Amino acid sequence: MSDGWRMRTRLVHGGAARSAFGETSEALFLTSGFVYASAEEAEARVAARAPGYQYSRIANPTVRMLEERFAALEGAEDCAAVATGMAAVHAALFCRLRAGARVVASAPLFGACQWIVTELLPRYGVESELVPAADTAGFARALERPVDLVLLESPANPTLDLVDIAEVARLASAAGATLVVDNAFATPWLQRPLELGADLAVYSATKLVDGQGRCLGGLIAGATRLLEDTVRPYLRNTGPTLSPFNAWVLLKGLETLGLRVEAQQASARRLAEWLEGHPGVREVRYPGLASHPQAELARRQMKGPGTMIAIRLGGGRERAFAVLNRLRLVKISNNLGDTRSLATHPATTTHAKVPAELRERLGVSEDLIRLSVGLEDLEDLMADLDRALGP
Ligand SMILES: *Cc1c(COP(=O)(O)O)cnc(C)c1O
Repeated sequence: MSDGWRMRTRLVHGGAARSAFGETSEALFLTSGFVYASAEEAEARVAARAPGYQYSRIANPTVRMLEERFAALEGAEDCAAVATGMAAVHAALFCRLRAGARVVASAPLFGACQWIVTELLPRYGVESELVPAADTAGFARALERPVDLVLLESPANPTLDLVDIAEVARLASAAGATLVVDNAFATPWLQRPLELGADLAVYSATKLVDGQGRCLGGLIAGATRLLEDTVRPYLRNTGPTLSPFNAWVLLKGLETLGLRVEAQQASARRLAEWLEGHPGVREVRYPGLASHPQAELARRQMKGPGTMIAIRLGGGRERAFAVLNRLRLVKISNNLGDTRSLATHPATTTHAKVPAELRERLGVSEDLIRLSVGLEDLEDLMADLDRALGP
């Protein structure tokens, strides 16, 4: 139905399915089950011989509207919505893997993704190897050995290192591996992993999709065949189901995704440039700055550099904490992608469980602050950061 519509139209109208009441805004089907007119109809629906819903762990009309709207945005054949971003990453990996498999992943990864790859998978007899995000030659070496699945995060949380997704996709495809890309930082508005060669794009919808700090959610986009044969059976039987209420909130979030990302990105760009010249800052990492070591790759694979900035302050944890504690407008939080600007000390929060030695090696240093730029007035953000960074 959304064929031919452009992105902004898809965000507002994609997937909308009106009930008999003809409501303007999407209806919230807050129901666990559905009733059948007869035993025969129940039998036919369960056997998928007749259309219709059965039970909200399997499918729900509000959740389905979100899935269709997001698939239209992503340019994917289909999408499965789940309860959290971690449920999306977990399912995308576990639905494909079995004992004896081997996984190659980029590093750094979001802390919980890293835990799954390095702690959980080995418990089930799955070998894993981490390759630094920017090390394309390292991926080529790692993919010379038999490999079943490649997990990438680009831009990486929290260092904003990039992976050359198209190049790793080419290597993964030659190796016969499934490629999963965690695209939470960019969203399909700024980066399209499936067009770059990924099999599945996974998202924490908690971040920019909701974008207003209200609810958790996750999304898995890809080809219908892969979702129907592999992803959905895993989800239906293990149950990381998205609540219809949260699906409805996320549908409303999608309507303004493009506007929010563009506005927050415009502020992030200005802030990154300003921070780079600030005497209280040692290094700024932002894919839109000429100083980013992969600035050319950012222009090639992303439509824009995004809403996140990584700042190295110098002076270790003590100074990072002092700067955070002086902020008044920008809030200290683990979250990101909110309309409110949020600052995080990854080494002691989101990445606290990554071993310290590995953390340092991956650039998640004690003086690193991650800034998620919101919708506030830019001048107010600059004044707050300037005071916090001051002597
Ligand atoms: C937040 C985040 C996740 C986890 O998402 P939740 O919704 O918190 O479960 C996974 N990957 C990345 C890159 C994230 O930023």
